[in-house]
Amino acid sequence: MVGRPIPAYSAASMSTLTPNPGNLEFAAPALIAGARLTTWLSAEGEIEELSSAAAIARARDEIPIACHAIATAYRLGARTFAAYDILELFAFTRPAQFCLPTPGGLAIALNLAPPRDAAEGALALQGAARALLGELAAGHGIPERRRERERERLGALAMTMARAGWRWGPAVLAALSVPSDNSSGGLNAWHRLPEREDGPPPPTPSDYAIGPDAAREKLAALIGAGAESRPQQFDYAAAAAGAFVPRQEADMPRLVLAEAGTGVGKTLGYIAPASLWARRNGGTVWLSTYTRNLQRQIDGELDRLYPDPKQKRRNVVVRKGRENYLCLLNYEDATKSLATAPGGTVALGLIARWVENSRDGDMVGGDFPSWLATLFGGGTIAGLTDRRGECIYSACRHYSKCFIERSRRESERAEIVVANHALVMSRAVLEAGSGQLPMRYVFDEGHHVFDAADSAFSAHVAGSEGAELRRWLLGNEAGRGRGGARGGRARGLEARIGDLIGGDDGLAIQQNVLRAAGALAAPGWLQRLTDGAPSGPMEVFLAKARQVVLARVDNDRSPYGLEVSVQEPAADLLQAASEAATSFEALRRPLLELGRHLIARLDGDADELDTPTRLRIEAAARSLKRRADMVQAWRSMLLDLELDTPGHFVDWFAIERVAGRDRDIGMHRHWVDPSQPFAEAVLRPAHGVLITSATLRDNPPDAPNDWSAAEVRTGALHLPLPAERLSLASPFDYPGATRVLVVRDVNRNKPEQVAAAYRELFLASGGGALGLFTAIQRLRTIHERIAKPLDEEGIPLLAQHVDAMDTGTLVDIFRAEENTCLLGTDAVRDGVDVPGRSLRLIVFDRVPWPRPDILHRARKKSFGDGYDDMIARLRLKQAYGRLLRRADDKGVFVMLDAMLPTRLTTAFSPGVEIQRVGLAEAIQKTRAFLNYY
Ligand code: SF4
Repeated sequence: MVGRPIPAYSAASMSTLTPNPGNLEFAAPALIAGARLTTWLSAEGEIEELSSAAAIARARDEIPIACHAIATAYRLGARTFAAYDILELFAFTRPAQFCLPTPGGLAIALNLAPPRDAAEGALALQGAARALLGELAAGHGIPERRRERERERLGALAMTMARAGWRWGPAVLAALSVPSDNSSGGLNAWHRLPEREDGPPPPTPSDYAIGPDAAREKLAALIGAGAESRPQQFDYAAAAAGAFVPRQEADMPRLVLAEAGTGVGKTLGYIAPASLWARRNGGTVWLSTYTRNLQRQIDGELDRLYPDPKQKRRNVVVRKGRENYLCLLNYEDATKSLATAPGGTVALGLIARWVENSRDGDMVGGDFPSWLATLFGGGTIAGLTDRRGECIYSACRHYSKCFIERSRRESERAEIVVANHALVMSRAVLEAGSGQLPMRYVFDEGHHVFDAADSAFSAHVAGSEGAELRRWLLGNEAGRGRGGARGGRARGLEARIGDLIGGDDGLAIQQNVLRAAGALAAPGWLQRLTDGAPSGPMEVFLAKARQVVLARVDNDRSPYGLEVSVQEPAADLLQAASEAATSFEALRRPLLELGRHLIARLDGDADELDTPTRLRIEAAARSLKRRADMVQAWRSMLLDLELDTPGHFVDWFAIERVAGRDRDIGMHRHWVDPSQPFAEAVLRPAHGVLITSATLRDNPPDAPNDWSAAEVRTGALHLPLPAERLSLASPFDYPGATRVLVVRDVNRNKPEQVAAAYRELFLASGGGALGLFTAIQRLRTIHERIAKPLDEEGIPLLAQHVDAMDTGTLVDIFRAEENTCLLGTDAVRDGVDVPGRSLRLIVFDRVPWPRPDILHRARKKSFGDGYDDMIARLRLKQAYGRLLRRADDKGVFVMLDAMLPTRLTTAFSPGVEIQRVGLAEAIQKTRAFLNYY
């Protein structure tokens, strides 16, 4: 399609959007890709609307400014296209600062007028470029005395990036007034980080109790005089104090289960007694969440407790698994190995800017912009964290500056650690009996404890896991000889801990480990299994497992994952399992022996080992023990194939597939009731625990106040002392502020009918709608049908599994842009916390029944017939609860599945009328209810 000029529109007529350009010479067109047409603003200020093909062709001649080049290319239907990505310039100029990856987000971050449409958005991109280059030229935010030195430093880094082809390079160098023969450098960001100073370990906390009155008083102080007083919040704080009294007998923790409806104010409600306990006893309370979003919110709420940022920094640590943080040694290795990769130096340059400015080095949800990861492909970023457990601790030259070590050390001294369920559970297993585990926990989003435990306590004899362990032991065999291995650590165990072993005995044990590792799945295993040419005992077993899966499923060509039971295994499968189990035992023994050998050195060589070496030895022994335990779990699974699976486990074989391609093959073991190991590993050793959520209890029609589901899913049933229980209703007016509509005349199996329903409902609400799906494929189908018509009406549509952005970023955009709609599946349902008009309509495509897989079947058998209803009801309750986050919010909940059983409708607030209506009436009611909102 040929471009359609819009003559009345020019940059000159919108001078209010144009920041002071100074005397910078940079000029380029700007482009905004819509679902239907692309808006193109020339460097001279003329606007056109182009088809995608025309925009791609134009971009070849005149490189435009775009916001998020990868997502833009995706929208245009191109694999890549040349652009000045404004986000790169933002990341260089304002490192570690938050900005939504949209024209509106940039405008807000840069204090420009927010754009109202695509044309103003394009103009905002040009304005943002000038503003950012202007900041660089002016040395914005840098004290006068340091400005010249900083300019030289930034100039050297920009020169490095420009020589590697960074499109912004020349403009940045011009803004910094750097001559064209300037020297390059600046990737060595570790030089500019402060050294950590360690002190002695903190003493054991004392045992003073926090009473209900003290908790109420503390809450009053936190809220401050004149703030709105919510009596339920004070009752909540008083009850939460029950988790902060000393336990009287070993293994008998105080457990409080507290369900508090939205708006009670539970975060400050538990921070009050938790902070009092920590201060009075000199201890640390761990606040654990399921989603990153809540972790971020709690961190924000803690500003009330520690208004002084320095004080907060001393007392609050946001802690995640080590795979989330930048490993400086990996980064340093990458500056050598990635520098020649396409885009490698540019990515590293932007990361260098972030490293120097980051609060804590967290690359996943911290101050590292998630869009920066997508700009360069997730693999580049993932390779910079300590994902593979290759840390060498004090042997590392960056040890005293290491982000991971700093976070670990600081959390030992902090009063409050904000963590997540997965980390809490893995630490409880790894550090059992070490004396290092927290005594007090608060689990917020407690309704997710069961799912988090399900992942944390499961085991998988899978090709991916075997190959990962082999690599940890033998190093990157695939990269050897091609210069592909990253530094010495990637050469495996020998390179990482060989210097700690000391003596021939130890070296002999190490050789036994390395020899036995040869039985694990090796690089190229997946292809060999597909070709029917497995190599070594583990691959042979996996090949047999694959054969069983393909033999027992109905459709072996399904594009989705396949799974089958392990019952009645054939003789050749049992034989392969037995041989693999033998090989695992041959590995487990020397792994344990090597760990014991290292620990013995701590005693035998006590006079010659310095403290860092001792710490390294302890860490190495822990790592070896962890791997030996994992191998033992694999071995048990394989040996059990000959017997019946123990009653508390469920086993199955599976082929994992993505878009029809095999990704992994293996045998899986989950607990039927994962709250059991959770209770043993986490709850029992603790002294006091609060588990809280807005949706802890199920509300079946015949037992609306029943706690049994909450007690089963939190592990309370497995403790000797009964839990203290509290339930507080939401203070919000759900019957007045929400509507629940069940549409009875849309055929859920007809995509055209479902799409029409989504489209018209989204139009009726004027946007601000969340579409929830129980299957990714249905989401994609509906997205394809409704994106353009909504775009024509000025309603942008985002979609998880479609847009080239991570879920957190999509939710951030949805939150910030009032009329944007979002389609998503489970992660969106659980991770959305959007107050105000941005979320005023939720449309569910189907009743969210659990998937009837093997694991679910076993749980249903164990927990009874009501299990399906309970899961579906809790999911509906979660989703419905998203509508009201503030007292003045309003919202409509629409279920497009006429098959919603009445017994599930107790998921909605008491008093809310459930209206079963036709689609036309649902549209009309939605429009009428939200009209003046
Ligand atoms: S101490 Fe470990 S995690 Fe930290 S930078 Fe060094 S190798 Fe990486």
